[in-house]
Amino acid sequence: MTEEMTAGDFVADVVRADIAAGQARVQTRFPPEPNGYLHIGHAKAITADFGIAEQFDGVCNLRFDDTNPDTEDVEYVDSIIDDIAWLGFKPHTVVYASDYFQQLYDWAEDLIKRGLAYVDDQDAETISAQRGGFGRPGIESPWRNRGADESLDLFRRMAAGEFEDGSRVLRAKIDMQSDNMQLRDPVMYRIRRTPHHRTGDKWCVYPLYDWAHGQSDAVEGVTHSMCTLEFVSHRPLYDWFLDHLDLPFDKPKQLEFARLELTQTITSKRKLRQLIEEGIVDGWDDPRMPTLVGLRRRGYPPAAIRDFCTNIGVSKTNARHRIEELESFVRAELNRTALRRMAVLRPLRLVIDNWPKDAAGQPVVEHFEVINNPENPADGTRLVAFSGDLWIEQDDFAIDPPPKYFRLTIGREVRLRGAYLVTATSVVVDDAGDPIEVHATYDPATRGGDAPDGRKVKSTMHWVSRAHAVEAEVRLYDRLFDLDVPGERTGDPIDDLSPESRQVLTGCKCEAALGDATLPSQVVQFERLGYFAKDPKIPMLFHRTVGLRDEWANIQKRVS
Ligand code: ATP
Ligand code: MG
Repeated sequence: MTEEMTAGDFVADVVRADIAAGQARVQTRFPPEPNGYLHIGHAKAITADFGIAEQFDGVCNLRFDDTNPDTEDVEYVDSIIDDIAWLGFKPHTVVYASDYFQQLYDWAEDLIKRGLAYVDDQDAETISAQRGGFGRPGIESPWRNRGADESLDLFRRMAAGEFEDGSRVLRAKIDMQSDNMQLRDPVMYRIRRTPHHRTGDKWCVYPLYDWAHGQSDAVEGVTHSMCTLEFVSHRPLYDWFLDHLDLPFDKPKQLEFARLELTQTITSKRKLRQLIEEGIVDGWDDPRMPTLVGLRRRGYPPAAIRDFCTNIGVSKTNARHRIEELESFVRAELNRTALRRMAVLRPLRLVIDNWPKDAAGQPVVEHFEVINNPENPADGTRLVAFSGDLWIEQDDFAIDPPPKYFRLTIGREVRLRGAYLVTATSVVVDDAGDPIEVHATYDPATRGGDAPDGRKVKSTMHWVSRAHAVEAEVRLYDRLFDLDVPGERTGDPIDDLSPESRQVLTGCKCEAALGDATLPSQVVQFERLGYFAKDPKIPMLFHRTVGLRDEWANIQKRVS
């Protein structure tokens, strides 16, 4: 993260001012709830939390906000740890809100004893109805003024498992008339007999977010606690608890920034889970998912995600970024790092009739030395086999070429990338009139792809030697959602799913170097087609990461 990029970030400004005012150290945390997989929105929070710590020589913890045993699981804990490491960040320590359950419980007793919290015997529905609304005062619970001793006794019995789930709660005693709804005697504890993935059956009362969060920040020594804008209204409560506990720690500061939203993308874990449950995608790591495991499988480099997040920065106003902008970072990174390879996705046979045969009557095989990545000479070169029997793309040949079609057609000469100039002479078609085999002649004087007499051709095509090709399955992806703001019409993003977000191509022909199990990098550029990621588990399966065309540049041109 460069100084220049973050200088405008208001969080950095706040931290800088705090340091100038005497703040001795900087500590942040990333606090996911382990109830699902991390998505691109979390990447923004992670980049900000770890980035600020790094920028000010501080530390950042990973803290699991595991206060709701109903929805949480170790599967998610493990995946979150893994995703953060993949993104390239290293937590100072890994901690859990559940590490503080005893401490939080003790502090709750303390508040009760001081008349600042009480046990309410009403059910959730009644309590919610009594909260009132904006401009509508709340109604005080009939249990609000019961004695501290009685509340303490009931709270202990709640924790001892004497009462049914939902029959009682512990509430902070603040102000039922407050303009801030969060301060209308918020619930601190509820009874829940669900085993917790870390504490097992030890507890049957669980703290709510607002009670757990600030106190966890304080115990850990967090100085700046970043969260998303919907928590602005919670900040007075965050401060109220810390102020009334009178803890022997420096008080952390809550700072809110805008959520990251992307066009044609959803980031609600609940809705992402629904996509899986309804079979719309294959799982959390489906390459169409905005989850980090999905983006990773699709071939998104972690550096590109980090760069994107750093570049958009943190702000205080919600804005939806275009997905094309994220893709432009992916393309930029892959352009630097991805090896170039040739693959034919929709093969059409091209036979060079004047290609020489060897003594045994077999077509001669030539090897061309090809550059692996023009952006990085250190990636070196490789040898690609060429012969008189090849695969080319179906749409690189036309029987009746449309206007401005410069690729192969009968009588026209084109370049086979790095090899020779060839001219199509005839075509064999099937019953439907579609080409199944194109015949051509080559000019032996054009080895390497250039004519000694300087004549020019208008197109260069990729190819794969038929005898040397390895087969692959290639999956092409389109946006999962049609609308920029999925759910904008009906309220349910599922109504805006694209009809076909995945296209599966089988029988694709790849140059031999793509079959190599030791393919040095996971994502390659198929020349002229885009970037493709080799599946980490399934052999010879490639996912299209992103195409070659920079749509973001076009969008910006249109806007300016
Ligand atoms: P969801 O609503 O999808 O469940 P969440 O906010 O409840 O998301 P958490 O696991 O609680 O998910 O989030 C951990 C951290 O990541 C929080 O600090 C949260 O503010 C932040 N975060 C979550 N989603 C986004 C987003 N879209 N953009 C930026 N930060 C986010
Ligand atoms: Mg949450």
